[in-house]
Amino acid sequence: MAKVLIIGAGGVGNVVTKKCAMLPEVFSEIVLASRTKSKCDKIAEEIGENRVKTVQVDADNVPELVALLEEHKPFMVINVALPYQDLTIMDACLEVGVHYLDTANYEPIDEAKFEYSWQWAYQDRFKEKGLMALLGCGFDPGVTGVFTAYANKHYFDEMHQLDIVDCNAGDHGKAFATNFNPEINIREITQNGRFWKDGKWVETKPMEIHEPLNYPNIGARESYLMYHEELESLTKNFPTLQQARFWMTFSPTYLNFLNVLEEVGMTRIDPVLYEGKEIVPLQFLKAVLPEPSSLGENYTGETSIGCRIKGIKDGEEKKYYVYNNCSHTEAYKEVKGQGVAYTTGVPAMIGAMLMIQGEWMQEGVYNVEEFNPDPFMEMLNQHGLPWHEQFDFHEFANK
Ligand code: NDP
Repeated sequence: MAKVLIIGAGGVGNVVTKKCAMLPEVFSEIVLASRTKSKCDKIAEEIGENRVKTVQVDADNVPELVALLEEHKPFMVINVALPYQDLTIMDACLEVGVHYLDTANYEPIDEAKFEYSWQWAYQDRFKEKGLMALLGCGFDPGVTGVFTAYANKHYFDEMHQLDIVDCNAGDHGKAFATNFNPEINIREITQNGRFWKDGKWVETKPMEIHEPLNYPNIGARESYLMYHEELESLTKNFPTLQQARFWMTFSPTYLNFLNVLEEVGMTRIDPVLYEGKEIVPLQFLKAVLPEPSSLGENYTGETSIGCRIKGIKDGEEKKYYVYNNCSHTEAYKEVKGQGVAYTTGVPAMIGAMLMIQGEWMQEGVYNVEEFNPDPFMEMLNQHGLPWHEQFDFHEFANK
């Protein structure tokens, strides 16, 4: 039994708080803190029974975070605010002596740069304090790392090729909206693509490489090669991988909107002067787009995210696919959230539970694939994200 402090009351914060609240034997006390307290209150009210305490916090401010952690003395923080806050929250955890978990790697606000270097640099400090930080414990990154570790443990002597495939075949009925924080999402997908090939990174133009891939229960969807942060840790932790790529589906309408927004400068992250005041166009765009947490109610269809792996076992070539499909409608019925928030919040809860139970507990800073995947895989089945396997899978991307 442990007390957790969840930071961030957006789409993912809603799901992780509700999933933790369902397990009082593990999460005996829950504090939900975020920039806008009314959003925490709404989630707490929906849960009821005064199960969740709510607090206002500015997670960019280390002394404020330290005071909050000292007041509540949680076992760990589940950070589902924005990637910009990762380092301040890690600093506060170190100062007070609290374990840490997040779902997205740190990004400097003025540069869309995705790498683990900043957080991996905390390794010695967490070890010295006898604390653990678990990085990237959502779905991708997160479950995709657990899937890869599970494949490596049970089905391969050597993995050679990994394709992480992420399809959202849902329809929220809005002309244009992002499924998680619009600012973070648009920064990610307007970057150059990158994949791992024969020991080095190969860079592509944004969305340059694409082809239709087939997804279970969904069919063919145009899938675009992108850079995604788990490629960095997976190629480091599984050095036999000769190729590692990440693919995500986008509809033509979504891409048209994005293209126009980019062309007119609305996705810029540098400040521009507007009526004598500096504003960042992408931050302004976020303010006028639908909140991801508001998309759930009429969302139909499902997500399908998995790992397609080639390699060898006992000298023979093996091909394997492991995936989860998640229905937006079912997610909404359970937690009033959409599928993308659900697939992120559930793994964050599971990671926290494994840390609390001591199954995944080691001093230092870790990515999920460095731990035994078996208990995590079992819990995915128990807590709403059942997974499926295809052996001898043949439909790998051609490009
Ligand atoms: P939202 O924008 O819906 O929610 C973010 C929340 O963090 C909001 O409640 C926001 O407050 C709060 N917040 C932002 N800045 C601060 C601050 N300085 N201090 C305190 N609170 C703050 O985002 P999502 O829920 O969609 O995403 C949450 C995280 O999950 C992101 O880091 C995202 O990258 C990650 N993610 C990971 C995925 C994975 O599979 N690994 C997939 C999807 C998301 P306010 O309401 O006031 O704006």
